[in-house]
Amino acid sequence: MNATSPPVIGIIGGGQLGRMMALEAPRISLNIRCLDANGAKSPCGLFSPGGSVEGGLKEEDKLRELAKGCDVITMEIEHVSVPALAALESLGVPVRPSSNTIRLIQDKYVQKSHFEKHGIPLGRYMDCPTVEKVKEAVEVFGLPLMLKSRKEGYDGRGNAVLRSLADVDEKFNLLYNGGKSGGVYCEGWVDFVDELAVMVVKSTKGEVKSYPTVTAIQRSSVCRVVVAPARCSRSARLLAEEVARNAISSLGEGAVGIFGVELFLTKSGDILLNEVAPRPHNTGHYTQDACAVSQFENHLRAVAGMELGDTDMCVGAAAMVNVLGEGDMSSTLKVNDLAMGMERTTVHWYGKAPAKKGRKMGHINVTADSESELQGNLKKLLDAVGLTEE
Ligand code: ATP
Ligand code: MG
Ligand code: MG
Repeated sequence: MNATSPPVIGIIGGGQLGRMMALEAPRISLNIRCLDANGAKSPCGLFSPGGSVEGGLKEEDKLRELAKGCDVITMEIEHVSVPALAALESLGVPVRPSSNTIRLIQDKYVQKSHFEKHGIPLGRYMDCPTVEKVKEAVEVFGLPLMLKSRKEGYDGRGNAVLRSLADVDEKFNLLYNGGKSGGVYCEGWVDFVDELAVMVVKSTKGEVKSYPTVTAIQRSSVCRVVVAPARCSRSARLLAEEVARNAISSLGEGAVGIFGVELFLTKSGDILLNEVAPRPHNTGHYTQDACAVSQFENHLRAVAGMELGDTDMCVGAAAMVNVLGEGDMSSTLKVNDLAMGMERTTVHWYGKAPAKKGRKMGHINVTADSESELQGNLKKLLDAVGLTEE
């Protein structure tokens, strides 16, 4: 660490993920600068002593302005411009993860092909540049079929479940969007018993460490609850961690930072990779209160070229519950008021407004000595956000 002149990390995107990095940065003597459409008023901009740039995340001149005075550039979102990142690299600015890593990941079809080539277990998939190709995929994979936009998807936006051949045209055209979506591909339906996730961090020296496997509970393709460690067999957890580490190692030298690896656990005990996010991830928020070094700190350590920190849990069990907007702020804040009075419970608020229905506004972490001791507090929170545990 350099105590006299802290290295400056430039973050592309100033939302909650950038903000949570920024909140950890000064403790390890790092300074944050960010680029966001809302500049200094963005959730991260409010905590960026290195200043903030107001502008679009894909604008090359804005990226250059961000890079001024920065020692390294990173991002909180993968939907950025790969040529603009490459242009920064050609000016000698370290970009971590690299433009090539982002290129591999931001197109889900390219991502799948890369992982297939490297022997990572995946479900079946097929490129579908035309409606005819989707029909062919139905023949091969059967129904239901998962159609996905190759690029720009998040929270299930960009995905469509095809349940009947009669819907092929409509669903394809919706995702194809006149070619603006970067194309469409499909995945065979995975009849998973659980969705798991593993955070993996990779350093500039090539060291790869994984956090424990977690269970990610989704509703309408949005992550709502995470339970750590995952509620599955120890062997499935260890296998998921191995698959996740192998996947990130396969990305090569430029893949520096934290990665969220989403996985499916099938009935037969197989682990299949769903997708990778090249940044801190919702399923890793529990690490803020359950681990000595959180995903945000480890991301910063990695991109700053520091030693990686401990990724083990220092509590027996933990859960994270997302706080989604309820349409108005006072209804949204109710669960926070409850959490504030609970033991071993921490509120993480993103400072966003308005509290639009379904918008990620914050999250609540709860820890315990064991999974059974976690249940009481977790149930209180789930009841408060209208989720009854299954
Ligand atoms: P994120 O917000 O995690 O980036 P996304 O929009 O990129 O999400 P995916 O992760 O591709 O979307 O899919 C969203 C959800 O849809 C998954 O978490 C899973 O519940 C379901 N899903 C995705 N692919 C399949 C599949 N092949 N078979 C069955 N369900 C799937
Ligand atoms: Mg995604
Ligand atoms: Mg996903």
